[in-house]
Amino acid sequence: MIERWLRPDLREQLTYSMAVSPEELAAAYGVSPDRLIRLHANENAYGFSPRVSAALTQGAWHQYPDPQGRTLRQALAEYTGFGPEWIALGNGADDVIDLLARLLVGPGRAALIVEPTFEMYALSVRWHGGEVLTLHRDEAFGIPRTELLEAVRRHRPAAVFLASPNNPDGRLLPEEILRDLLAEDVMVIVDEAYFEFAGHTFAPWLPQHPNLVIIRTFSKWAGLAALRMGYALMHPDLVRAYDAVRPPFNVNLAAQQAALASLEDRGYLLANVARLVAERERLYQALQEFPFLRPLPSQTNFLLCRVVGGDAHRLWEALLRRGILIRRYPSPPLRDYLRISVGRPEHTEALLAALSEIAQEIPHGAP
Ligand SMILES: *Cc1c(COP(=O)(O)O)cnc(C)c1O
Repeated sequence: MIERWLRPDLREQLTYSMAVSPEELAAAYGVSPDRLIRLHANENAYGFSPRVSAALTQGAWHQYPDPQGRTLRQALAEYTGFGPEWIALGNGADDVIDLLARLLVGPGRAALIVEPTFEMYALSVRWHGGEVLTLHRDEAFGIPRTELLEAVRRHRPAAVFLASPNNPDGRLLPEEILRDLLAEDVMVIVDEAYFEFAGHTFAPWLPQHPNLVIIRTFSKWAGLAALRMGYALMHPDLVRAYDAVRPPFNVNLAAQQAALASLEDRGYLLANVARLVAERERLYQALQEFPFLRPLPSQTNFLLCRVVGGDAHRLWEALLRRGILIRRYPSPPLRDYLRISVGRPEHTEALLAALSEIAQEIPHGAP
C-alpha cells in the first residue's frame, strides 16, 4: 500500500526480510534462550570490562553529550598514536561505514567491494543511492589483484571497501593489494574491526596516504556490541568533512563513557583477547579432526569452516538442536560454509562434544 511513496531505487532492499532473533531461533529448536551458546555474531565471550558497569552508574544523561566527543578522542589518540584531529567517531563501525558512504558514494557514484565480505558496505552504499560494483574472491578467498586494479581504472569508483582481516574468512588484506589501490585516485576504506585479535594494522600508512581510511570498533575486542562505539582514523580534512554530514549526537554519552572505561582497562580486555586467540588456535586444530570439516586459518575471533561431503545447513540445525548457534549462509558461494565464533574453553568443549555426537549418529561420518 505504501510502496508508491518509497524510493523506487530501493525497491529491492525493501522486501521486508526481518531477521529472526537468536531467542526465537532457539525456541523453534526446543532450546531455552538462556541456555543458548551464542557463537554466531563474533561477540566477545568474556564480555565487557567491569569498569564499564562502574562508569555507567552515573552520567549527565539529561544533557546533550559533547558532539565532538573530545574526551574520548583524546583517549583514542593515546591508544592509537594519532592526534584527535585524525579520529572520527560513530555509533558503531556500521555507522562509520554509513557516514563514509554518505560522504563519498551518493547518486551517480560507485563503490567497489570484493565479495564475500561484510554486508554493511553494499547496504549503506545503496541506501545512499550509490552504485555497488562487485568483484569476487577466488576459491581460497584471495583477492584477484590484477582484476581489482583493472576494475578501479576502468570504472573509477569513488571508494573501495575492504576488511582486514576479512569477515567471513578471517584473512588479512595483502600489503601489495593495498599499495596498488592507494596509488590510484580512489578512497580506500580498510575495516579493521578485528585489529586487536589480528595484531596487525595498516594505520602507519595513513600519514603518507590521504586516501586511506581505517575503521575500528569496540564491539569485538572490548565487548561493547550493544552500546555501539566505532571510530575511524583518517586525514584531518576528511574528519572535518565527515563531521559536516554526521548527526551531531550520533554517539551517545553512555557509549562514550563505556569506551573510555574500556581504554582505561585495556590490560584486562587485551588479556581476554589473548585468551580468545589461544582458544582460536585450539579450536582450529580440533575442528580439523572432523573429516567433514575444513576450517580456514583466521586472524580474528571466528573460524570459517567448509563442510565437505555433507550439508552445512543440516549440520547447523543439528548444532542448534543441541543449544549451539553458529552462522550459516543461505546461498553460494558460502552455502557450504559455517562461521563459528571463538568462545571460552567451555564453549569449545560443548561444540566439540556436539560435533562428535553428530558425527556418530550418521552412517558415513558426514552430516
Ligand atoms: C562486526 C563487524 C563490524 C561491526 O561493528 P559495529 O561496531 O558493531 O557496528 C564492522 N566490520 C566488520 C568486518 C565486522 O565483522
